[in-house]
Amino acid sequence: MNKMFAYGDKNKYIVDPTTECWLWHGSLSKGYGRLKVPGRTSPMRAHIYFYEQKYGPVPEGMELDHFKCNTKRCVNPDHVRPETHHNNVSKSVIKYSEQEREHVKTLRNDGATYLEIVRATGIPIGTLHRLIHG
Ligand SMILES: [Zn+2]
Repeated sequence: MNKMFAYGDKNKYIVDPTTECWLWHGSLSKGYGRLKVPGRTSPMRAHIYFYEQKYGPVPEGMELDHFKCNTKRCVNPDHVRPETHHNNVSKSVIKYSEQEREHVKTLRNDGATYLEIVRATGIPIGTLHRLIHG
């Protein structure tokens, strides 16, 4: 149980074949997966860790929303996206044209990280997710 956790360690979660949720099997805190990360003093939420491994740091002031599955212990980075409480992301998506959508998708396909695209385009990261995945 005290084995150090590494990204991709399948022992800590099981993938639900129906929902594609990665259901956390370690300890939980308020329903969220909890894990100890080397170099950090306090445990962090597992879904945040997995997200950061894939997409980079969660933007300041935002938190990850399980928009796909609403399952707190799910740690699939593609089932969460950064959201603020007051930010209506779907409204802001409308501001962006099909051309811009294609542009960010191209950048993403070329291997740019979300943060690089944010810097290049000025589009908020939550909106970016919608543009690319939505
Ligand atoms: Zn999920």
